[in-house]
Amino acid sequence: MSREQAQQILKEAQRVAVATHVSPDADAISSATGLVQILRRLGKTAEAFCDDDLPARLKAIPHVEEIARIARGSFDLLVSVDASDPGRLGKAFAELQGLPLLNIDHHVTNTRFGTINWVDPSAVATAEMVLWLAEDLGVALDAELASILLAGIVGDTMGLRTANVNARILREVTRLMEAGASLPALVDALFNRRPLAAVRLFGQALVGVQVESGVIWTVITREMRAASGLTHANDLSLSSFLIGVEEARIAAVFTERDDGKVEVSMRARPGYDVARVALAFGGGGHPPAAGCLLPGPMEEVIPLILAALKTAARDSQGETSEGR
Ligand code: AMP
Ligand code: MN
Ligand code: MN
Repeated sequence: MSREQAQQILKEAQRVAVATHVSPDADAISSATGLVQILRRLGKTAEAFCDDDLPARLKAIPHVEEIARIARGSFDLLVSVDASDPGRLGKAFAELQGLPLLNIDHHVTNTRFGTINWVDPSAVATAEMVLWLAEDLGVALDAELASILLAGIVGDTMGLRTANVNARILREVTRLMEAGASLPALVDALFNRRPLAAVRLFGQALVGVQVESGVIWTVITREMRAASGLTHANDLSLSSFLIGVEEARIAAVFTERDDGKVEVSMRARPGYDVARVALAFGGGGHPPAAGCLLPGPMEEVIPLILAALKTAARDSQGETSEGR
């Protein structure tokens, strides 16, 4: 239903702004750039916006350099991709307010903030939904578009390793590879390359790891980030590493930003749900991978979040196949 409405509004639009979330990940950049390329192939004007710096590993995605920070221009439609609430669009939302808004997303916590909302938590990535749109709109895959879209699928499934990977997505990955995308090249760029500074910071953060009632957690302070020279601490994927610890059902990493706010990155084993905790604190995500941003200070944030996570670590939802 909303998939058809999404198609319809995109067919009618002529000048489309596509905005994605701050702290961008591969799926954010992939779904925004992918949709822009599809719209341009249909003869429309389309521009991608992200109100943040892009981490170096995302430079492997074709056309990433065309993404602008400030959303200016004359448009007749705003599309939000991979963002669960309008706050995640940063200044892009304020700059483009008043336009009809198409909200395309796969987060279970999506607040349905669009004029039209196409939200499908069964999609492994927003990029998978954009692939469906390409097919619906009759845009053929070439090597470039296939690489752009595969990047988001590979990013959100951690290289096809999350609990939600199924036969459908593998068939889609096969189609993308047949069109010319390289799975090994994207896995290498997104997961196997990291700056030395990241490894040093990782090491420091591991020294401070604690486990309480099934919750494993650690802290990255401003001082630790400054000493390592790493600006994008979320590039570490430290929470994804910590959830591999056998004694843990839930993992959390608390990162202090330069403005004093605290980013919380959370992961859960299958059957446990951190999306509900993130949503309760104004954030969002998926049952196994979620996050939120709190005003700080660190010593207030940690006990608040840990109490909620310990409760979540007691409440098994039963084995679910719902992934990130
Ligand atoms: P991360 O821990 O940064 O890899 O994020 C895991 C998931 O949670 C991703 O789907 C993010 O989009 C989502 N997420 C992280 N931080 C926030 C936030 N402040 N608000 C809403 N969603 C978030
Ligand atoms: Mn994302
Ligand atoms: Mn996503």
